[in-house]
Amino acid sequence: MTNPQLSDCLNFDLFDRIPEGVCVLRSDFVVVFWNKTLESWTKIPRSKILGCPIDQYYPHFREPKYQGRLQQIFNGGPPIIFSAQLHKYLIPVSFGPNQLRSQQVMVTGLPNPEGEEFYAVLAIQDVTDLTHQSQAYRKMRDQALAEIQQRQHIEAALRESEARYAKIFEDGPLGMALIDQNHCFFRVNRRFCQIVGYGEEELTGLSVLEITHPLDREKTAYWLEELNQGNCESYRLEKRYCNKTERVLWVMVTVSMIRNYDGQPLYRLSLVEDITERKQSEEALNQAHDHLKRWVMELEQRNREITLLRDLSNALQASLSRGAIAGAIRHFVQALFPQRAGGVLVWEQEEVRVFSHWGDALVIEEVALSYQSWLRQQQRKNGLCDCQCFLATLPKEYFYLPLHSQNQELGLFLLEGQIIPGRPLNQTEQNLAETVAENIALALANLQLRETLHELSIRDGLTGLYNRRYLEEALGREVSLALRKGYPVGVIMVDVDHFKNFNDTYGHVIGDRVLQTLSEFLLLNIRNSDIACRYGGEELLLILPEASLENTQKRAEQIRQGIKTLKIEHQGQTVGKITLSLGVACFPQHGLTWEAVIRAADQALYQAKATGRDRVVAFHPSIDEPTR
Ligand code: GH3
Ligand code: MG
Ligand code: MG
Repeated sequence: MTNPQLSDCLNFDLFDRIPEGVCVLRSDFVVVFWNKTLESWTKIPRSKILGCPIDQYYPHFREPKYQGRLQQIFNGGPPIIFSAQLHKYLIPVSFGPNQLRSQQVMVTGLPNPEGEEFYAVLAIQDVTDLTHQSQAYRKMRDQALAEIQQRQHIEAALRESEARYAKIFEDGPLGMALIDQNHCFFRVNRRFCQIVGYGEEELTGLSVLEITHPLDREKTAYWLEELNQGNCESYRLEKRYCNKTERVLWVMVTVSMIRNYDGQPLYRLSLVEDITERKQSEEALNQAHDHLKRWVMELEQRNREITLLRDLSNALQASLSRGAIAGAIRHFVQALFPQRAGGVLVWEQEEVRVFSHWGDALVIEEVALSYQSWLRQQQRKNGLCDCQCFLATLPKEYFYLPLHSQNQELGLFLLEGQIIPGRPLNQTEQNLAETVAENIALALANLQLRETLHELSIRDGLTGLYNRRYLEEALGREVSLALRKGYPVGVIMVDVDHFKNFNDTYGHVIGDRVLQTLSEFLLLNIRNSDIACRYGGEELLLILPEASLENTQKRAEQIRQGIKTLKIEHQGQTVGKITLSLGVACFPQHGLTWEAVIRAADQALYQAKATGRDRVVAFHPSIDEPTR
């Protein structure tokens, strides 16, 4: 092996001018050229490396992959490339800590003019930047690919989710609608169309408010506006739609604002559920509840009324006096008809009288008075129950019921017919009033019966005058009243002279007639406040409250004379004249008890008989006690 000559090197000077590293190896791997670029890269001066085998500096050249391939070049083989990708570098050149430059090495055979073998010219191109760039590109490409792949995944997922969403939107069981900022539909699903009964084309562009029930428009507009203003993100509302056939249906709507990534509003999504059936059952339930409540209230009311009616009936039965009956009627009827004034009118002694009243007393008194004068104008003596024409003349409307008992007219039950105009008594109130009226009629009939019985028990059957029992009671009362108030009470004992003769001559019937005629005469000749009694047989007694002895005597004398004018006929003939003997006494002059006064009158009568009959004798202490 010969050392390379400088001249050999000179032959390669041209390689100094190129910016790539050039190294020429002889077939024995000795470096015969080392250009300036390599000197600069490797910091190995040409003077040092020339003539040295390359593996002295770079041992890897001994590896078979270099040895064998370079040998091919030395043998005249075709150029070889040691690519930067596979081999990274051939002559290691560092350019940073632990970093070596990448080299693309082209090895070309160059004929050796001195022999048959070839030189190997290693043209070393620094492709570090290129490699880095291509690595960066590759990385970028990989990233781009990964991103594309990811995007494809996302897009696929998006498509899938869109398809799913579209399916849910289209076939979902809820009505769904997309609404623009002007409250108009721009997309609706099948269910929504079913609910409102409009087709999709008909709904597109139609305002939500147009299909909303007029009564719910205001609140719907309010909430949509709240959503538009951003004051809320969603709302939930029970409202009514009018469907295409104008049928009202209830829906539950949940409307939410849908925004893009920047938060800008896109549209409003409305979820609609048909709740008509639920609402109807709610309504039905409410109505049933209301009915039930009304029923319960009515039942309570009926119950209350029944209790009051029973109490009224009991109270009426227990009441023996007029005042007690009137009081019971007032109390219970007022409780039964709290808002209606009224009263019970009766016909007594040819007058319309208020038996009982409730509510405004004056009003019912006025009604009684005007009824009284109306009856007079009509020249009717009775007819209380035939009051329809009269009631029509009143400014207020009255509901009336005649009070009857066994075809006998007892009175009239009156109730204010209208509390407020247009609110007359309803059927229930009328039924109640009828029951009340029946009870009152029964009580009045009982009262009448009781009063009649009482009358019968205190009156004499033949003459109609009070009997002796009543006399004693009445005189006792009058005497104690007179004692308290300090006035006198006159007493006249009357006896028909020779009365026995009437019986004997004309029979007892005429005797009775005489007694009856005498009684009628006496009643006509005394004041209302005086009391006439049959004392026994043909003896009668008159009580004259507040009459002095003198006035009593005068009255007795009037009677004695008056009786003579009476004529009693029998079989076309006048019965003989009646004369009377009268004994007069006075309280307190002639006795301080009623017994004493009667005794005094009896003594005076005896005196009248004894002194010739047909006369009036006043008691005086010298009169002897009669012996009967
Ligand atoms: P004097 O003048 O003394 O009173 O004679 P007098 O006949 O009236 O008296 P006397 O007491 O003797 O007779 C009363 C008669 O009255 C006896 C009785 O038969 C009769 N008498 C009593 N009550 C009734 C009655 O209710 N009807 C009738 N027709 N007669 C009666
Ligand atoms: Mg007599
Ligand atoms: Mg007598």
